Amino acid sequence: GRAAAQDYDFFYLVLQWPGSYCDTKQSCCYPKSGKPAADFGIHGLWPNRNDGSYPQNCNPDAEFDPSKVSDLLSSMRAKWPTLACPTNDGVRFWGHEWDKHGTCAADVFNEHGYFAAALSLRDQLGVLNALTAGGVNPDGGYYTMDQIKGAIRDGTGFEPYVECNRDESGNSQLYQLYFCVAAAGDSFVECPVLPRGRPCGNRIEFPAF
Ligand code: 5GP
Ligand code: 5GP
Ligand code: 5GP
Repeated sequence: GRAAAQDYDFFYLVLQWPGSYCDTKQSCCYPKSGKPAADFGIHGLWPNRNDGSYPQNCNPDAEFDPSKVSDLLSSMRAKWPTLACPTNDGVRFWGHEWDKHGTCAADVFNEHGYFAAALSLRDQLGVLNALTAGGVNPDGGYYTMDQIKGAIRDGTGFEPYVECNRDESGNSQLYQLYFCVAAAGDSFVECPVLPRGRPCGNRIEFPAF
């Protein structure tokens, strides 16, 4: 039959800095494959509407099946590592992202296409290279919002939304980056709308991992 009409306008590709997930009061657990690389990992690829709302959990019957992404699992372990406790192999995190977000983009992605696209988009950006080339290093130092956004814009061509969280001492730190991807899932675009969030302040820690 006919595919359902697309129920979203773009995607957020959300990347997380592991150092900022782990140095919080809540702490973290490394996955079974060991400590992830000191690089940005994927949180998810989230369909979103221009009015800020988003569809979720669109197909309870399309349960995550790791065997459909067997050729991607080693890349997923490296670039989409779970840091939640207790220690696990990542299937819980990937399954959650697929069930909640991926199933809402069935017009462009099957399960394999969803994970392959997120991995490819992350690699295209090279965010950590962009930051360090702009003098923004994960060394526990503090940076302004303009330094962070400027380095990423200069290095990748796109300006992300920056989400901060707090380390154990209460310092605001760079936690997640939101980039926008066209509804076809194949190219970056300027964000039509920014996620709601709290201000980071202008003294933003970039912790080591
Ligand atoms: P939080 O409460 O941590 O901001 O968000 C919890 C979860 O809700 C996120 O991990 C994500 O799954 C979903 N979410 C939050 N904000 C957005 C958004 O702006 N767009 C989409 N598509 N999902 C979101
Ligand atoms: P969202 O916030 O996308 O709805 O869902 C995040 C869910 O995935 C939460 O239930 C969280 O516990 C789980 N999760 C597992 N590993 C990670 C991780 O490394 N980072 C984040 N942000 N959430 C993770
Ligand atoms: P502006 O008018 O300077 O673009 O931003 C308006 C408000 O949105 C400011 O309070 C600023 O803190 C917030 N804002 C803009 N971009 C970002 C961002 O990337 N991350 C966060 N956390 N807040 C932002």
